Amino acid sequence: MSVPGVLQAPTSGWTTSADVIVVGSGVAGLTTALRVRAQGKSVLLVTKATVDEGSTRWAQGGIAAALADDDSPEDHLRDTLVAGGGLCNEEAVRILVTEGPDAVRELMAWGARFDTDPTGSISLTREGGHHRNRIAHAGGDATGAEVSRALVAAVSADPGIEVVENALVLDLLKDIDGAAIGVTLHVIGPGRRDGVGAALAPAVVLATGGFGQVFGQTTNPYVATGDGVALALRAGAAVADLEFVQFHPTVMWLGPLAQGQQPLVSEAVRGEGAVLVDDAGERFMLGEHEMADLAPRDVVAKAIRRRMRETGAAHMWLDGRGLGADMWVHRFPTILASCRLRGIDPVTDLIPVAPAQHYASGGVLTDLDGRSTIPGLYACGEVACSGVHGANRLASNSLLEGLVFGRRIASAIEADQLSRRVVTEADIDARDTQRSLVVRNAIRRQLQQKMDVDAGVLRSAESLDEATQWIDAALSGDVNRGTPCTEDWETTNLMTVARVLVEHAKLREETRGSHWREDYPNAEERWRVRLVTTMAKDGDLHTERRSPEWVPGSENT
Ligand SMILES: Cc1cc2nc3c(=O)[nH]c(=O)nc-3n(C[C@H](O)[C@H](O)[C@H](O)COP(=O)(O)OP(=O)(O)OC[C@H]3O[C@@H](n4cnc5c(N)ncnc54)[C@H](O)[C@@H]3O)c2cc1C
Repeated sequence: MSVPGVLQAPTSGWTTSADVIVVGSGVAGLTTALRVRAQGKSVLLVTKATVDEGSTRWAQGGIAAALADDDSPEDHLRDTLVAGGGLCNEEAVRILVTEGPDAVRELMAWGARFDTDPTGSISLTREGGHHRNRIAHAGGDATGAEVSRALVAAVSADPGIEVVENALVLDLLKDIDGAAIGVTLHVIGPGRRDGVGAALAPAVVLATGGFGQVFGQTTNPYVATGDGVALALRAGAAVADLEFVQFHPTVMWLGPLAQGQQPLVSEAVRGEGAVLVDDAGERFMLGEHEMADLAPRDVVAKAIRRRMRETGAAHMWLDGRGLGADMWVHRFPTILASCRLRGIDPVTDLIPVAPAQHYASGGVLTDLDGRSTIPGLYACGEVACSGVHGANRLASNSLLEGLVFGRRIASAIEADQLSRRVVTEADIDARDTQRSLVVRNAIRRQLQQKMDVDAGVLRSAESLDEATQWIDAALSGDVNRGTPCTEDWETTNLMTVARVLVEHAKLREETRGSHWREDYPNAEERWRVRLVTTMAKDGDLHTERRSPEWVPGSENT
């Protein structure tokens, strides 16, 4: 199979350089930038909207870390492996949970303020799949906003980190040996760097976040268009686990025509005692799982979908009336405001909820230090597939992933000594350009609808074939022959990601983690493998099966 639509980096009009280029300004990019700076290197941090845009600032629940006396990294490891459905890389998870507490403390040293209990210790709560109270939160349910605020402030205070906003990175630049040496980008802004240019560095870190906009209903903001994964594919890097898309069970249901970013009702609300009920008021999670309403997300999302199908209801209900007004006001001020804005008062009313796309567990395949399969290219945060999430991410492990692996990537860059190399325009491999084939943004909405229906929570061979045929037809027919705009480039990226996601979902004939095949309802031992895909220059995709323990450069297969 192939992806005929590949994007070419247009000819550069200007050039700039740094020791390290970081693409994206969420928790992953900002952490990496600060850690790289601590080693004395210059950083160019480019981001396609404003510096605080991205999923990070929307995060509600918090950051998971074994900070409590009755908790341990070993317990956190166990919960993460269970949620990951047998596909986590255990070594990567061990790194996440053991380095996690220190990473959170460093975040606090950079200025983040977490909510505390009356004794002054960090107040820890529980979310789905966690057997301990280990979720640190800020501003009640505004954790991401606080993390973003603190990191942006720390980055802004460092003159060695140059931030360029409204800079859409298009493609990777490589040298004659195939190593990453920079990116092409389109900047909208005043000054000498307007239009398409090139940023050069011997180390490029992708921190571009997820691809929620592949689907019509998502909790992700508009910038989550999978640019990093698509760019990596075009550059020849391996991507993995794209079929494992997490659908959050409790996204506020705003009607059948709602599209784009939808308001989330954090799992922490269930952590504090809210329960799911159907139209008849019955608590349907009780018989589903030993953790009932706090079961892992895939279990809850599937149970909601199943009950919706059985009863013909368009959504289920979240009953948080038992929390009381005080809890809503002080612990969940953001969600309370979001509900009231829509005419729902969760103190007295039930909240209509249904699953929607929330998190991409897969992405650019990395080793345990964030190295991709292309020398000089690293990936961090939601864009990466480091192996910590397996078939399903455990709640609140993703902010932690950005913190922990941002630190490791900075060390890896130092160890790889890449920043000692000086890169110039003369190093760019001119042969490494592809013919431009950009699809029209006009088809984005159709793609999203197709993906919701055919590759969403419920999948089958039939529905996935439908999606494949539609994408292939659109890729060969809906080509933009004029000058592409930002949205055309983004939609091309969405199509590229969707094509690989659907192919993986079709190949994986089983139900595991967040991947639910109606025609293959059980997990199969033979499928305890990861699907790893690379794209050739002509757009042909090559997919192979690897053991969960395998990382690029390792001996294991
Ligand atoms: C509503 C919501 C609630 C959540 N709650 C939690 C929670 O409680 N706990 C938790 O752990 N996780 C939570 N998550 C998930 C978590 O927020 C994300 O996984 C995490 O913030 C991702 O961080 P990141 O740095 O990888 O990406 P992001 O924060 O998404 O940042 C990506 C950055 O890349 C930039 N970018 C993208 N493409 C390009 C391009 N082509 N060129 C230049 N720049 C580009 C974007 O503009 C952005 O700055 C939540 C997510 C959402 C959406």
